[in-house]
Amino acid sequence: MTTALCFNCGHLKYGAICSCPKCKLRSTGDTKLDILFSDHFMAHSTLNQFGTVVKFINEHVDHKDIRFWTFMFYVSERHSDLLKIDPPQALAEQIQDLYSQLEFPSVQVLPGMRNQSKPQTGDPKQDDVNMPGRDQSAKKWWQFWR
Ligand SMILES: [Zn+2]
Repeated sequence: MTTALCFNCGHLKYGAICSCPKCKLRSTGDTKLDILFSDHFMAHSTLNQFGTVVKFINEHVDHKDIRFWTFMFYVSERHSDLLKIDPPQALAEQIQDLYSQLEFPSVQVLPGMRNQSKPQTGDPKQDDVNMPGRDQSAKKWWQFWR
């Protein structure tokens, strides 16, 4: 069973697109994003730490969209190799302000099930076996999201 992060409340849930046991939210609406933040691609400890970030943001921000985009912006700024986003223009200024004001907990990104026992050989053909983005050999394992 897949363990995945709930972007809404920071709880870990079972199944990337199953509803969260805590807040009932099912999915972000972007399945690739849901799966990126699951134990397929990240260690449990990493998911837990991202969950702490979500909870931290929720303590400081009330608006649902701003919570989500602040989290996305955080990931994009701190872990730009995972994903790179620009917040929607209408929210961008507010989110950048929040980002500079809040002292976020840090996250150590460790690999998940699909890539943990696979030492990098330096050969893109071998390194990308079983990866969704294997045809895009120049990308790292997690960059299929882009
Ligand atoms: Zn939840």
